[in-house]
Amino acid sequence: MAKVNEQTLILIKPDAIQRGLVGEIVTRFERKGLKLVGMKMMALNEAVLREHYAHIADKPFFPGVAKFMQSTPVVAMCWQGLQVVDAVRKITGITKAREAEAGSIRGDLAMSVACNVIHASDTVENAEKEVKRFFKDDEIHSYDKSEYTHVYAEDERAV
Ligand code: ADP
Repeated sequence: MAKVNEQTLILIKPDAIQRGLVGEIVTRFERKGLKLVGMKMMALNEAVLREHYAHIADKPFFPGVAKFMQSTPVVAMCWQGLQVVDAVRKITGITKAREAEAGSIRGDLAMSVACNVIHASDTVENAEKEVKRFFKDDEIHSYDKSEYTHVYAEDERAV
C-alpha cells in the first residue's frame, strides 16, 4: 500500500538561487500539499556530484554540469507525501526546460537544459538513496501536519 510518508529529494540549483526563485519553488510544493521534513543550504563538492550524477558522469556535458552545480550553494530539501516521488516529477517537468509543460516548475521558470532550476528524485529507490546522501538522520524531521486532514482522504492518510 502506498505510504503517506514517502520521501523525495529536491535540490534548488544555482540558476534558481541566482534568480531569486527559492521562495517561488518552495511555495509550489507547499501549495501542492506536501510536507517539508528537511531543508538546508549546502555547497556541493566534485565527489558528491560524481555520486549523485553517476548516470551522466561519462557524458561530455558532465564537467559543465559539475561546474555549474558548484557555482553557488544549493538548497537541499526533503518533501514527504503520498506517492510524492511521482507527484514531484510531474510538477518538475522534463529535463529540457524550454519544452517542459506549462504549469510545471521547469516549464514556467526555465529555458535551459543544464540550468533547469531544480533536481528531483526520479524513482522511490533513488529518492531513498538521495535523501540519505544529502541529509543526516537527525536533519529529517517528524511532525504532524494539521493540513493533512484536508489534503488527503482518511483512507489515504492511513499508512
Ligand atoms: P533530470 O534532472 O531531468 O532527471 P538527468 O538525470 O538526465 O535529468 O540529468 C541530470 C541533469 O544534468 C539535468 O537536470 C541537467 O541539469 C543536466 N543535463 C542533462 N542532459 C544535459 C545535456 N544534454 N546538456 C547539458 N546538461 C544536461
